[in-house]
Amino acid sequence: VEVEGTDRRRSFWGWGNEQDHLPPPAVGRLASTLGERLGADMRVRRPPRLEEIELRRSRVSPPAALDAILTEDRFERCLHSYGRSFRDVQRASRGDFSRPPDLVAFPRDADDVARLLDWCSSLRFAAIPFGGGSSVVGGVEPDVGDSYGAAISVDLARLGAVEEVDTVSRAALVQAGAFGPAIEDQLRPHGLTLRHFPQSFEFSTLGGWIATRSGGHFATRETRIDDFVEALSVVTPAGRIETNRYPSTGAGPAAESLFLGSEGVLGVVTGAWLRLHERPIFRARATIGFAQLEAAMATVRAIAQSALEPANCRLLDPAEAQTAGAAEGSQFVLMIGFESSDHPVVPWLARALELCRDHEGQVVEQTSEGEPGGRGRGRRGRGEPARGAGPGAPAADAWRQSFVGGPYLRDALVLCGAVCETFETAVTWDRFEKLHAAVLAATRDGLEDAAHGAGFLTWRLTHVYPDGVAPYYTVVAAGRAGSELEQWATIKEAATEAILSNGGTVTHHHAIGRDHRAYVERERPPLVSAALSAARRVLDPATICNPGALLRPGAGKEPA
Ligand SMILES: Cc1cc2nc3c(=O)[nH]c(=O)nc-3n(C[C@H](O)[C@H](O)[C@H](O)COP(=O)(O)OP(=O)(O)OC[C@H]3O[C@@H](n4cnc5c(N)ncnc54)[C@H](O)[C@@H]3O)c2cc1C
Repeated sequence: VEVEGTDRRRSFWGWGNEQDHLPPPAVGRLASTLGERLGADMRVRRPPRLEEIELRRSRVSPPAALDAILTEDRFERCLHSYGRSFRDVQRASRGDFSRPPDLVAFPRDADDVARLLDWCSSLRFAAIPFGGGSSVVGGVEPDVGDSYGAAISVDLARLGAVEEVDTVSRAALVQAGAFGPAIEDQLRPHGLTLRHFPQSFEFSTLGGWIATRSGGHFATRETRIDDFVEALSVVTPAGRIETNRYPSTGAGPAAESLFLGSEGVLGVVTGAWLRLHERPIFRARATIGFAQLEAAMATVRAIAQSALEPANCRLLDPAEAQTAGAAEGSQFVLMIGFESSDHPVVPWLARALELCRDHEGQVVEQTSEGEPGGRGRGRRGRGEPARGAGPGAPAADAWRQSFVGGPYLRDALVLCGAVCETFETAVTWDRFEKLHAAVLAATRDGLEDAAHGAGFLTWRLTHVYPDGVAPYYTVVAAGRAGSELEQWATIKEAATEAILSNGGTVTHHHAIGRDHRAYVERERPPLVSAALSAARRVLDPATICNPGALLRPGAGKEPA
């Protein structure tokens, strides 16, 4: 299948594009720096080659009626075998593609999706919706058990258009396979933006965001994709669902909620009407240093509860700030930013800085754009969003670069033999301190057990709310060749236990997939699991949609 709109340069085993991976000399330097830091001997592996991968034969051939949209192509089957978590990249980089999809489908429209689901239902083949494949929780892995005759990865890449823009209501109809940059490129001529920027923005899609309830990088206000979804189109094995566009409705439980976070188990999202924003032109930001965690947290809470609603309010621990090149490593670093398409925001920043000073924060840098008299670049043309933090903001720029380049660095660390992964949660303010202390202690114990202490842990706050906060942790440890997955499992188990027993959720924005499924049962009321299973029984009677993700295998088959 010649796939228009898909990018053949994608790495079949790691993040993003092949040509953007760190070159071998840089990986070598990384290995020696890391080896020194961990006191370990890091041996660099070369990346896998497609032609060396042992790929089992597909168990099924495309039927004539679907031949135009199904492929057995080797590259596609490998690319669709995994998401992009540490576990995924670790296995893929070692050439382990033992559970590939039998075929990959590239439907051209909703009719193709319906035909495909009919075919899968009639033969009881698993159908696994695939957007950008950036899942970090086993969401797209064809690990569906033996009761399915085949596994078909359903890639929405051909559904990548912004189909209609309603400039009056400021909304757009977007197909589910549209990647982040394509959405923004198509909205830019209208002076509009979705303003949803997960770290995976470049390689993830609208359908994936909806199916996982993704979180964008703005710290407050509308940040989760849920906030932008006005109406949805879904193809389920039982039929199609189109919800109506309303700015709001009190007509019972919202139909969209059933599919937000449904992770492909109730059908395939094919498109959505999305609420949009005008592109911001006024910006004001600052970086503030704090000597003590308590003072930094008190400031963040004061800002979160002030109704100032900054676009960015990200606290980095000293080690994370140092790793990102945003500070020298002795202080907690708070990055705060405001933006608007309508009015100057310097007064908002000024008030936030007063709150910082109340808690002995020291302003390290400050900049503004679009503001009369601002020290920044001056007023921008509409539709030209600033990418960096503006002039005079080296700490914020350094952070941004490390944020965007981080996934490539992670893959290089895997090639150096490191165990390297992140995990995150959200917790109410009253329970943060205890949870955070427990997570740090448990993760360090996990690092001791798994890597004899040859590792480190950094953290940051990614999202702040009036009633709580979302901490995000990064672990890097010396791997033992062949045992990296077990090492990570030990650390993850210890950290997750600390999260769940201290009032945190198993995930703030990485979703459930297969990896968190057993854990989510501990926070999801059993009757809710039963109700979801019942919904699945109605929408997907043959239980073919992404079996094993979100719900336990077989959920929906038997009466709840
Ligand atoms: C480096 C990195 C950074 C990340 N940063 C963030 C972040 O900032 N915020 C965040 O929320 N997440 C983040 N993630 C996780 C991931 O990017 C999100 O879960 C994202 O929403 C997945 O989108 P996708 O298009 O890649 O979906 P996929 O990974 O392809 O699929 C994810 C799940 O959604 C289902 N699905 C996909 N498309 C559809 C569809 N059309 N209909 C029904 N089901 C579908 C799949 O079956 C699967 O269960 C990150 C991941 C990586 C690797």
